[in-house]
Amino acid sequence: MAISFDLTGKRALVTGANTGIGQAIAVALAQAGADIALAGRSEPAETLALIAATGRKCIDLRADLSSIAPVEALVDGVVNALGGIDILVNNAGIIRRNDLADFTEDDWDAVVDTNLKTLFFLSQAAAKVMMAQGSGKIINIASLLSFQGGIRVPSYAAAKSGVAGLTKAMANELAPKGVQVNAIAPGYITTNNTAALQADETRNRQILERIPAGRWGKPEDIAGAAVFLASGAADYVTGHILAVDGGWLAR
Ligand code: NAP
Repeated sequence: MAISFDLTGKRALVTGANTGIGQAIAVALAQAGADIALAGRSEPAETLALIAATGRKCIDLRADLSSIAPVEALVDGVVNALGGIDILVNNAGIIRRNDLADFTEDDWDAVVDTNLKTLFFLSQAAAKVMMAQGSGKIINIASLLSFQGGIRVPSYAAAKSGVAGLTKAMANELAPKGVQVNAIAPGYITTNNTAALQADETRNRQILERIPAGRWGKPEDIAGAAVFLASGAADYVTGHILAVDGGWLAR
């Protein structure tokens, strides 16, 4: 049988897809044939237009994922509009930078709630649908800070390390149900999330010196890995954290 990366007929929910990595992933999944539900707190006008150009169906569901309040309704909304959920991409995330001594409870809670707690409970809600279908793919957006400590971002490192552990925990339980759970760990990608780093001349130079590929990644660099993990080609891949980092971790 030919290996297939085709996603025709699949239904994907992508969080935080109005910009950056989430936008690139949503567009690539649509280009591979999937219908898309976008979930985020901001108007995803550009993403809607890019997906419309692929000819795939796209729905826009507004949700603030800083708490788990909207997750059940969000999954119900996707099932009602698209008939099910085959792919969930947990991409929405935030970062707070501060010295350890000045780090506040809000800097901690905001990042851990959005990046880890909501990721789990949205996955739980989607997994119930996927288990009933007997198939599904959950793709979590992790980070290099799922492996490393980073600088001045303790809640982000804790949350993304938690995402790596949770990916494996969910994969173990869902594998017998036909649902695969994996994560992508992007390297340094030019998005809003890294705007402060790109603007800091010293940090920008230090980062570039450390990347074997010699450049920052683009959001599109992450999209191919997402299409692979969403496709039948990855049916026997589960519990894996795939670094897409220009060689950063290899160094
Ligand atoms: P981004 O452009 O800032 O995208 C973040 C997305 O998450 C935006 O769509 C944002 O919506 C959404 N979001 C944040 N808080 C939300 C909330 N409470 N409810 C709903 N949506 C929310 O940055 P990005 O780099 O593409 O980040 C995407 C993911 O990649 C994040 O999980 C990030 O941690 C991860 N990542 C990024 C890098 C990198 O180098 N850029 C590296 C490793 C991992 P708004 O536009 O409304 O804020």
